[in-house]
Amino acid sequence: MEKICVAVRVRPSVSSESFNGAYWNVEDNRISLHRLHGTPISGLSYTFDHVFDESSTNARVYELLTKDIIHAAVDGFNGTAFAYGQTSSGKTFTMNGSETDAGIINRAVKDVFAKIQMISDREFLIRVSYMEIYNEEINDLFSVENQKLQIHESLERGIFVSGLREEIVNNAEQVLKLIELGEVNRHFGETNMNVRSSRSHTIFRMVIESKGKDTNSSGDSSSVDAIRVSVLNLVDLAGSERIAKTGADGVRLKEGKHINKSLMVLGNVINKLSEGAKQRGHIPYRDSKLTRILQPALGGNAKTSIICTIAPEEVHIEETKGTLQFASRAKRITNCAQVNEILTDAALLKRQKLEIEDLRKKLQGSHAEVLEQEILKLRNDMLKYELEREKLATELEEERKSHKERDQCIREQQMKIDNLSNLVSFSDLDRNSNQGQGSARQSLKEECSESSVHQGDAFSTPCFKADPKAFVVKRSNYSTLPDYSPLPDTFSNVADEDTWQKMNKGYMADLDSLQMTPARKVQSFPSNDITPACSNDNFKKEVQQLKRQLEIATEDKNELERKHAEQIMLNHQLMDEISKLQQEAKLIQEIPQRLSESVGNCKDVYEDILSIVQSFVSDGESSTAKLLSSTSEIGKSLFTTLETHFSMAMDDRSSSTGNNFLIQEQCKVLYEKLNSTITSLVSSETPSSENEEARAQLCSCGNKGCTQGGETACWKEELSNELNTIKERYYGLEKELDHNNQLLVVSKERYDSLEREFRLLKEDRDLLHQMVSDSSQKLSLVTDQKENVLKDLNTEVRRRKNLEEEIKQFSVAFASRQRSLASFHSDINSNCEKLRTQCLVSLPKSRGC
Ligand code: ADP
Ligand code: MG
Repeated sequence: MEKICVAVRVRPSVSSESFNGAYWNVEDNRISLHRLHGTPISGLSYTFDHVFDESSTNARVYELLTKDIIHAAVDGFNGTAFAYGQTSSGKTFTMNGSETDAGIINRAVKDVFAKIQMISDREFLIRVSYMEIYNEEINDLFSVENQKLQIHESLERGIFVSGLREEIVNNAEQVLKLIELGEVNRHFGETNMNVRSSRSHTIFRMVIESKGKDTNSSGDSSSVDAIRVSVLNLVDLAGSERIAKTGADGVRLKEGKHINKSLMVLGNVINKLSEGAKQRGHIPYRDSKLTRILQPALGGNAKTSIICTIAPEEVHIEETKGTLQFASRAKRITNCAQVNEILTDAALLKRQKLEIEDLRKKLQGSHAEVLEQEILKLRNDMLKYELEREKLATELEEERKSHKERDQCIREQQMKIDNLSNLVSFSDLDRNSNQGQGSARQSLKEECSESSVHQGDAFSTPCFKADPKAFVVKRSNYSTLPDYSPLPDTFSNVADEDTWQKMNKGYMADLDSLQMTPARKVQSFPSNDITPACSNDNFKKEVQQLKRQLEIATEDKNELERKHAEQIMLNHQLMDEISKLQQEAKLIQEIPQRLSESVGNCKDVYEDILSIVQSFVSDGESSTAKLLSSTSEIGKSLFTTLETHFSMAMDDRSSSTGNNFLIQEQCKVLYEKLNSTITSLVSSETPSSENEEARAQLCSCGNKGCTQGGETACWKEELSNELNTIKERYYGLEKELDHNNQLLVVSKERYDSLEREFRLLKEDRDLLHQMVSDSSQKLSLVTDQKENVLKDLNTEVRRRKNLEEEIKQFSVAFASRQRSLASFHSDINSNCEKLRTQCLVSLPKSRGC
């Protein structure tokens, strides 16, 4: 365990403007704020591993702060050095340097190659990449077409940026040239504080692989096989900024917000890491791309150094305090760096070894420089193939993901359709169980009232009925997906003055208020032994095929969506109809009430008439009186029956139609009875002499001289008037009844049309069912085909590998045959030569003999 190495560097002052005369004083590794006359201000003194004053050069910063990390990287330790500080405080100057004073990146690159030169017992393979994070998007600085790259994580490679161009290099000049080219693509902008302000975070990365040279044949093979892989990150952060000071607006403002946001996340990560292992809890690495990429370097397996640059001017005191507080917290972080030795094929060096050896043999005899160039070219080609393959694999993975999502979407559609069909069949069931027009209307009403109480919006949005389930599925699906958690929206205004102020006072956002990042997703690509040459085409073909299938499936999905929308429209229409019916039902409900009121009126009139008639009958024992009282009783009982029926009808609407009929009947009876009573009264009653006077007084015509016959006529007239009134009322009631009956007929018609629409909907639903099952079949077919393709692909790859192996063996055998043939030839030649010389020697001898 070792602490992060933290240093502070003070940039030379650019203005002598002073307000209170306060200044930053540097003494050894301490920096403190002093008042005008030199007295230190308490609480504003900080100690770090190093504090570099205004006169310090990049060379000194490199020597003291970064050199060790660079050397350790060559030895197999991960290393990261980054510059943090406000805009125009000297971060880029420190990392990139100037023409006269080379920066840390330049020195590190040269140092790495110088160190490698000195290590004779190991061979190295170095590759470099250069990226920037601009507005939370990762862009490749080596290749402008590689924009908006994604971060992935695999067991073999850990966290990596997919599609990022890597270049294998074998000397420092080559790297510096590449960096120079990359710098052109970097985002700069002009602000009030810096004419060339870096608007993005840049990460220059060197991956150093090395393995022991197998010089001694008796050596331990495992130690030779082990390959060290280390990653060196050199990071130049964009500066935190206060919008008012930088005068940023428009594009600059948006950049500023993103810069501040990611620096705030970095601050939060540092804050959490500085809390010590036990209290740490969740570290929000995934909340910004910067922290996600730097995850291994922050509190992980890396040697890390941070150089915090500050501006000495009094006007920047607040920002400087913020930077120093950030540095103080960073000082408390411990990392656990170790040499990264691996035995698997993850190391590029290992994967490329055989091929390189092959090429070396082929080129033996060529000039060494040409050989090296060829090897480098081959290596880069191979790396490109690998990266290409990796990109394709990632694309394939994404295709699979979208395939899954599409599946999910179809399932949701299915659920919604099921839901809708449930609703339709629910209404069907209800309709079937109801008998007669009245009961159907009743059930509809009950359904409506029930829906308003229990199902809330079941009628208004039927698809929501099953949606809770759908949401759960969606949620769980989402939680497995993201590579980094989205930031809460409130972060978008992180660049406002208040937040900025808080940030620079060392304020850290409450991490619990941040959306927690989902659990780390370890994503691993399926192991793939495909050789680059043959795999590319196949992969491309497969991807294209999948894309085509995806298009077809998307069309299917769109069709389903269209149908679903139609279904929803129909549903809305139905709902309108239902609400109209509800209103009508309400009107119908009021009928018993109104009838009951009419009956009440009739009763009053009836009682009035009776009391008037009874007043003429003074003798309670007379037959007329008896008749009248019995009529009164009959009438009362009739009215009571009517009232009970109406109150029943109001309580239980199911018999409302029956009630109407009953009322009609009873009214008729009442009318007839009244008629007969009056007729009998008129015909049977013979007026007595003692009542004559009273009758004459009560006669409504008021004519005292009325004769008996005239009186009777008068009474008859009055009674017939009353009867007419009752008749009129009765006709009024009949009319009302007719009107209500018409309403009922219309409602029935509407109900019938609704029934027809329901039937149509049902047919549509069945059709949709059919389509969904068809597309599910298609999907399973596609999945099967895809699996078959993959299987074939793997078999083909294995076959090719075997073939290659055979060819190699054959070549080796052929070469040894050639060699033995050549040696055989040379033997024969030398033998011939010997024989010839022997012949030549023996011939003169024989001649001389
Ligand atoms: P930053 O990257 O932090 O926004 P720069 O590195 O661009 O700031 O520095 C702003 C200006 O200050 C540049 O012109 C740079 O040359 C100058 N500068 C910064 N630090 C130093 C230093 N230590 N010595 C000389 N000039 C410096
Ligand atoms: Mg800069």
